[in-house]
Amino acid sequence: MAETPEIRPHAIMIPAPYQGHINPLVDLALNLASRGFTITFVNTKFIHHLLSKSHKNLSDNNNDTDTDMFSEARKSGLDIRYTTISDGFPLDFDRDTNVFEFWEYLLDGFIVHVDELMENMVKSSCQHMKPFLIADTFCTWHAKIANKYNMVDVSFWTEPALMFALDYHLDLLRKNGHYPPPKEDTITYVPGVDPISTKDLMTFLHESDITMEHKVVFRAMEEIEHADFILLNTVEELEPKTVPALTQILPTYAIGPVNLYTRNFKISKSLTQETECTEWLRSKPPSSVLYVSFGSFAHLKGNQVMEEIAHGLLLADVNFIWVVRKNIIIGSDDATDLLPGGFEEKVKGKGLIVPWCDQDSVLSDPGIGGFLTHCGWNSVMESMCHGVPMICFPLLHDQPTNRKLVVDDWKIGINLCDGESVTRDEVAGKIKRLMCTGGFRDESKKVRDVLWDSLDAAAGGSSDRDLARFLEDLRAKIHA
Ligand code: UDP
Repeated sequence: MAETPEIRPHAIMIPAPYQGHINPLVDLALNLASRGFTITFVNTKFIHHLLSKSHKNLSDNNNDTDTDMFSEARKSGLDIRYTTISDGFPLDFDRDTNVFEFWEYLLDGFIVHVDELMENMVKSSCQHMKPFLIADTFCTWHAKIANKYNMVDVSFWTEPALMFALDYHLDLLRKNGHYPPPKEDTITYVPGVDPISTKDLMTFLHESDITMEHKVVFRAMEEIEHADFILLNTVEELEPKTVPALTQILPTYAIGPVNLYTRNFKISKSLTQETECTEWLRSKPPSSVLYVSFGSFAHLKGNQVMEEIAHGLLLADVNFIWVVRKNIIIGSDDATDLLPGGFEEKVKGKGLIVPWCDQDSVLSDPGIGGFLTHCGWNSVMESMCHGVPMICFPLLHDQPTNRKLVVDDWKIGINLCDGESVTRDEVAGKIKRLMCTGGFRDESKKVRDVLWDSLDAAAGGSSDRDLARFLEDLRAKIHA
């Protein structure tokens, strides 16, 4: 619905500076823009630099408004603007190796750059525009900024509702002696959360010291109390107790899967240059290829894990695409060097090893029959949207909790192993089990239909309903 010319909502959208946080916020930006919102999408200069290195058509000029990730969307008539701000470090600072130093600054120093941007945007905003903020929940300053500039504050959560509930109720876990978890036990008292084993809790809760993850989650949960709206990239049908339980205590709206919003747009969000896989996939029979990827950020613990996965793929004798990211092992500049000698030769024709690909498009290919994944939430959502069953190998943060949903609750995948050390026989055995058992594929197709229907008004989809409810409540608040 087009906005009245008097007051047009202008969303200033700021992701946490990581691939897995940028992707879903871009999807949301395009959806809102196609509903008549003006958008200004804000990346850090470093993220923009990565984007322009991976997309030859993008300029590395920080504020070049002609060539940015939304150029094509603009050509189709959307009012979607783009700008960049400093994250406080020079472009050549290694944010991966120095992750703690980087996050210390994101927690306490980054707000000054956002503040400066907001001041300029508010000053230059025209009368009939009403700016408001949509920021990732891990942008732990969002409410302070919104408050200072008298803006509506929308916080965007990029993990399942289950993770939100656990993070939000950390005090309950602490009170009940489950944090740090003393021993394996079952937690039965978190509102809206089915009994959950302590082994399925997020990884940082298993640490006895306060880590950077603790600090970020504590701050995010303090700040969330002040948000006007909280958007969850999940689907009520998938988390039928947790989503309503959250809605009772906070202004939450489950509007996922947001990756389906952008299927009609030509946009690449990749921070790494993509290798084309379509031609290769076309030569493979339906459902015969295993896609292997551990996301954009997590590291495998040691060369041995790489070797066991490689040998497992050989033993399973399966077609596969394996994303061997440059830095998949800390300190490796080219992780393909860590593959067993002669591996690439041995798998010729059967296996494709790439540094990065357009994952959503790969998963949508009929050739794909399974996904060996680290269970990052976007990967899980994308896999489910294409009806692809999963082998779960969680590495950090929310990933063990996401695995619990995939394996125990939705039964659309299997667990690779307990912990992070895995043998080639386990890898081969689980691959064969997943790829040869029709049951997982059938269940995955049912879940795929649930996800697509959730965004379909005619099917009475809950996400379509929640998105409509959010837009109505947002407009009312903006116009108030
Ligand atoms: N991705 C991609 N190509 C790859 C690997 C990952 O496009 O080769 C995308 C993937 O589609 C997803 C994001 O990167 O949207 C990773 O997010 P996720 O939450 O799965 O994991 P994270 O990287 O945050 O651990």
